[in-house]
Amino acid sequence: MLSINLVKILFTLVILREIIVIGLNKIAQKIKMLKNAAGTHNPSILTTAQKIPELDIKIDACFLSNPYATDLFFEYFTKELVQSHKLKEYLEFYPSQNRIVASVISKFTKINEKNIFVGNGAIEVIQAIMYDFVDKKIVINIPTFSSYYEFAKDKTEVIFYKLSKGNDYALDIEHYIDFIKKQKPDSVVIINPNNPDGNYINKDNLRYILKELSFVKNIIDESFIHFAHEDSQFSLVNIEALFAEIPNCIAIKSVSKDFGVAGIRAGYAIMNEEKINFLLKNGYLWNFCGFNEYFLIFTLKSPFFSKYEEIRKKYIKNTQNFFNSLTQIKSIKVYPSMANFCLVELLDGSLSSDFVVKMLINYGIYTRVCNDKIGLMGNL
Ligand SMILES: *Cc1c(COP(=O)(O)O)cnc(C)c1O
Repeated sequence: MLSINLVKILFTLVILREIIVIGLNKIAQKIKMLKNAAGTHNPSILTTAQKIPELDIKIDACFLSNPYATDLFFEYFTKELVQSHKLKEYLEFYPSQNRIVASVISKFTKINEKNIFVGNGAIEVIQAIMYDFVDKKIVINIPTFSSYYEFAKDKTEVIFYKLSKGNDYALDIEHYIDFIKKQKPDSVVIINPNNPDGNYINKDNLRYILKELSFVKNIIDESFIHFAHEDSQFSLVNIEALFAEIPNCIAIKSVSKDFGVAGIRAGYAIMNEEKINFLLKNGYLWNFCGFNEYFLIFTLKSPFFSKYEEIRKKYIKNTQNFFNSLTQIKSIKVYPSMANFCLVELLDGSLSSDFVVKMLINYGIYTRVCNDKIGLMGNL
């Protein structure tokens, strides 16, 4: 895998080259067709490599995970399960049920286990919430992660609150609160840091918003919270206790991005007991596999977690340095981000769809266009 520095140099070279669009070659057309077929998500790196074997993909800068964390987990996984031959047990036996795994997460997060619901990835929790708890009207900030509006029921009215480009897509808190008070939805969604722009609402401001909007169901998606920081030590931001204080709040936590383990489909949510009981009455008894349970139980334990903390901080430093270097390039605008990705706008008139193809064909770096996101305009 290429180092971040090399990516930086390659990225710079691409940007500085005069971009002349001479008509797309065959590979470029295949890439665009794959993207069109994948809708609002990007085709996965595995699908892309399979369908276009002539591509030499070196870096997947599209899937937003911490690669150091994947390596760390894989090291333990190999030692503990593969080399010790315990792997067979995980294939042969049923994993623990939802409540047992919830109790393990509870020990680590200090959240009452009655308030923890384990999902097959955060996406399953989002699906359940959109179906079971969002009723007539929801406000979703755009640009956003598309599943929130895609999974809304037909009878749910989706109102978009447009984050302003002029404000670098940061949430104007007072304006937002006024908007919600006027619209009177039953639910709202805040992704923090937001996907796809990386904007972050700090702990105090989030507490303020939640208190002001306690009359609605606040759905807070924290898929990228491990990359956010409020001090120079990059300490983990811990607002989970806050969610337990506010009865109408649902916090969703994916582990796919920060721990780099999207393949095992782990994730959980914090919500009130009645909601969890309602969900469990309708299923979700064994909604995850043994590897998922292994991951959740294992990673929260001490030797792994302290190592994870080191690489989490190292990764934040690297990505923030990388973003800073990108801001030196005149022909692009880099939007400020507290996540592990950043939104880049091409200012030189070139098309983002051509740019992505060139990065992939010429350098093997897989990036994604954002012009398919509702609420974004131009070449992002
Ligand atoms: C990736 C992502 C998810 C889904 O995460 P999984 O745990 O892999 O299902 C949810 N919310 C946001 C904002 C994401 O970016």
